[in-house]
Amino acid sequence: MARYREAVCRLCRREGVELYLKGDRCFTDKCAIKRRGYPPGQHGQRRPKHSDYGVQLREKQKAKRIYGLLERQFRNYFEKADRMKGKTGENLLILLERRLDSVTYKLGFAPTRRESRQIVRHGHFLVNGKKVNIPSFLVRSGDVLELREKSRKIPNVNESLDAVVRKGIPSWLELERDSFRGKIKTLPSRADIQEPIQEQLIVELYSK
Ligand code: SF4
Repeated sequence: MARYREAVCRLCRREGVELYLKGDRCFTDKCAIKRRGYPPGQHGQRRPKHSDYGVQLREKQKAKRIYGLLERQFRNYFEKADRMKGKTGENLLILLERRLDSVTYKLGFAPTRRESRQIVRHGHFLVNGKKVNIPSFLVRSGDVLELREKSRKIPNVNESLDAVVRKGIPSWLELERDSFRGKIKTLPSRADIQEPIQEQLIVELYSK
């Protein structure tokens, strides 16, 4: 599957906000947006223009980049959200949060969504006792995720779990650190999603 392979800090600089794509480095002075807080490229330091379309486009790009998706995948989520009952923008964010790679990241099994996706792909997780290696797998309320026995010594996983135990996890999730197990207590609501996304702008963009 195609994926973005350039330096991810460029994405933060393009969006003008920290997207926290590099784990611990994002909280240090090495963060690129702290050092060069303007868009990348030859014209990065020019004053930006803000048309309505431009603002909506940037919001959509930001959301795509936070969740590490390409345009077609993101559009598919939007179309699915649009067919669901309720507000399309909220449905969209909830679908994105329910992705297995996002949930394992929120539970602290990896310091970034990107690394989380990699450990999912490599088949390190069981969902309700069955191996699942599909990052886009959508979790449901009551699902139990577990790191496989043979994967529990991965140093990065342990460091990341220890860090999340200190920081805390979203209230819709539950983590049993010692048994490398997480549970979906309930599906997230809009209020549970802390990502800096104004979903209404994305709905407006795709509704044109
Ligand atoms: Fe973004 Fe993190 Fe890079 Fe800073 S260090 S620019 S927050 S990815």
